[in-house]
Amino acid sequence: MSSPNISRKRRAAVIGAGPVGCLAALMLAKRGWEVSLYEGRSALDPRSSLFKSAAKQRSINLAISHRGIAAMHAIDGSMAQRFMQTAIPMKGRMIHHLDGKLYSQLYDRDGQCINSIDRALLNEYFVDQVSASENIRVFFRHKVQTVDFESKNITFENMNTSRKTTASFDFCVGADGSYSVVRRQLMRVVRMDYQQEYIKHEYIEFKMPASQDNEGHLNFALDPSHLHIWPRRSYMFIALPNQDHTFTCTLFAPSEELDRLDTQNIFLNWFKSNFPDALLAIGEKNLINDYTHNPRSPLICTKSNPYHYKDRAILLGDAAHSMVPFYGQGLNCGLEDVRILDVLLSQESVMSTVSERTVDREDERLMRALSRYSQERHKDLLAIAELAMANYVEMRHLVTTPIYLARKALDNLLYTLSSPQYRSLSYLNMVLSSELYAENEPKGWLPLYTLVTFRPDVRYDTVRRTVARQSAILTGVGYVGAAVLLGVAGVWMSYATRSRYR
Ligand code: FAD
Repeated sequence: MSSPNISRKRRAAVIGAGPVGCLAALMLAKRGWEVSLYEGRSALDPRSSLFKSAAKQRSINLAISHRGIAAMHAIDGSMAQRFMQTAIPMKGRMIHHLDGKLYSQLYDRDGQCINSIDRALLNEYFVDQVSASENIRVFFRHKVQTVDFESKNITFENMNTSRKTTASFDFCVGADGSYSVVRRQLMRVVRMDYQQEYIKHEYIEFKMPASQDNEGHLNFALDPSHLHIWPRRSYMFIALPNQDHTFTCTLFAPSEELDRLDTQNIFLNWFKSNFPDALLAIGEKNLINDYTHNPRSPLICTKSNPYHYKDRAILLGDAAHSMVPFYGQGLNCGLEDVRILDVLLSQESVMSTVSERTVDREDERLMRALSRYSQERHKDLLAIAELAMANYVEMRHLVTTPIYLARKALDNLLYTLSSPQYRSLSYLNMVLSSELYAENEPKGWLPLYTLVTFRPDVRYDTVRRTVARQSAILTGVGYVGAAVLLGVAGVWMSYATRSRYR
């Protein structure tokens, strides 16, 4: 019979070695848990030759910003710093008009940037970190099939042996992406609200090669300090820079539009008339090659609630919430999930070791932390899903309209007049403390993009409310401005009419 005083480490099973699963594994290992990380693909093992090709199944690169960086910092500051050395900072959007004119819109008045990172590099980096951790064992080619949350057992298909294997856990983290098996299993025991929507747009990726000067040096074909956008009302083309001087480009368009472009010639002519300068930089042959070989991928948006089950399971990252990629927040938000869970585990004093005597108390604490996670996080996840959807209209159309530009100018003017100067780093430091977010609403006037992207101390739901309030003021100011202009025009016209008949 075991003594009630003998303590043992608690076992966490993390499913999915994407960036969110890896960060969750690192966070739990740092807290002293014994972590097993299970990944269905072998391809995520950087030592495998399949690694790169599997990482390319989705966008090759993505933009990481302060929320994601702050989450990485919170778990391991030096890891975040090292990783960011591989990123390319982008200070603004470069709008490409049809007539070839370029227009730069900076993301932030103080020069804060978002960062283009290579998805494969990010995965490789995370997998290296977890593999080096003493408390983490990584199992590739282990595909979760079922989870029994009552007996706390997982069944896998072990693809190395083609046999079923099982493993037990105290705490299970589902970070297995948009089509999560853990979520499906949880829905059998939790009364979970779940919603899934495919938007009517798809995306295709293209590669813009580096250009070469006379001496054979490679150069970027476009300015690498911008995220390039070709907004064309119902569709758009974007380009993000890579370390090797190429750009990864993505065409987002309604499925109906893409159906119509069913031969290489029709597509080429359509592309030429919509994105002539992009075609020059990509080249006809490369464009057609990518169009023929790269998949048309769907864009899915999922919402769930709650995210946990009792004291034993939680969903994080895309497994809990997939959003459309138009705010560049999907990954940032998933990494932030890990930071929030970390803070709640601290606040509820959840221990990583238990003895027979303490196990009930520890289960209680873990349950409180998980339940607070579902309560705290849900409104933020709804808010960012909504903001991401709205940003698509802004990116593909509004950015070129005079009303948008006038509002943006006013927004920036109010920002400059009302907000105290700050340095981005101070906000990163703030979220490293044990608080979920800064307690109060942000001070002064802050543009939406700045709040979403550069202020990890402000929760997404507060962003939505703050911006709704500011937006009402901007509309009011717009109406007053228009009324004043109309009044001035009226007075001037009546004066001009009277003086003509005098
Ligand atoms: P994933 O990256 O999907 O990882 C899940 C892992 O679980 C995978 O490795 C998978 O193999 C594994 N797995 C799945 N099922 C099982 C199973 N049964 N058993 C074991 N393992 C399993 N976000 C940003 O922040 N910025 C951007 O600029 C950005 N751009 C994007 C562009 C596009 C076109 C798209 C589609 C998304 C973009 N995103 C962006 C979103 C971002 O890619 C995701 O939010 C992020 O990858 C989610 O990470 P994750 O770890 O939760 O899930």
